[in-house]
Amino acid sequence: DVSEQAEDWASRGIDISKPSIARAYDVVLNGKDNFEADRAFVGEITKVVPEIYDVARYNREILGRGVRFLAEQGIRQFLDLGSGLPTVENTHQVAQRVAADANVVYVDNDPIVLAHGRALLAENDRTTVVTADLRDPAAVMGDPEVTRLIDFTRPTAIMLVGILHHLHDDEDPQRIVETYMDAVPSGSYLFVTHFCASSQAARDAEKQYLALLGTGRFRTPEEITAYFDGHELLEPGVVPLPLWRPEGPVPPEDELSVGQRLMYGGIARKP
Ligand code: SAM
Repeated sequence: DVSEQAEDWASRGIDISKPSIARAYDVVLNGKDNFEADRAFVGEITKVVPEIYDVARYNREILGRGVRFLAEQGIRQFLDLGSGLPTVENTHQVAQRVAADANVVYVDNDPIVLAHGRALLAENDRTTVVTADLRDPAAVMGDPEVTRLIDFTRPTAIMLVGILHHLHDDEDPQRIVETYMDAVPSGSYLFVTHFCASSQAARDAEKQYLALLGTGRFRTPEEITAYFDGHELLEPGVVPLPLWRPEGPVPPEDELSVGQRLMYGGIARKP
């Protein structure tokens, strides 16, 4: 019954009475690792942005294109911060298809990610899942499970995909990004996707995220671009997700829908 189920999850540190970022994202990816509170939250967002399920797909698609691109550039270490629940085409699957010797560390602070991630990754000794808070870069980069697979003297992809908007302004996401990038050598990359205040619907969605989930800052293209300061932003720059190195035909920028413009992203190289 429902209360027994809730107690069982609570014993593992998982509160199913409130929506979580990881589980709400699982809802919009049509996953099965979510609960009523998560589905109710997504139901409210759908009223403001009916395309929210498509937005999640655009984000997974750029994640795939970006990771493949980075592996093709020779990157063999991926630090995937705020990695989310396992879904299809996870970072290690995409990277290791290009380069079997690519190492991938998934970091997430939601214990449900570890609970489900372990099973998926058990057979792969080049991939691991760590439960940690990415807002503490020193703890993340000092974690023995992270340093087992990532040598911070070698070029590394710092992935902050679909996560920086869950950090409040007073948590200084800019400084957190800089701390990770300071720790990796020249030839490393920064990969960011982010909710963007690109429409009235986006600004309305921000209100709902903050009220119902507690996080969700929709920043301007200029604010998102500033995360890449000091690095070589690669073509086509910070753009609506479907426009980043598309593999098929895409509409011109001024014809994109609200959902197609809801998130922006880009990749930069550390000089
Ligand atoms: N990166 C994946 C993607 O783009 O498909 C998943 C994005 S999901 C929207 C954001 C994830 O970040 C969630 O799984 C959430 O649990 C995690 N997260 C939120 N705050 C975090 C923090 N402070 N430290 C680590 N992970 C965090």
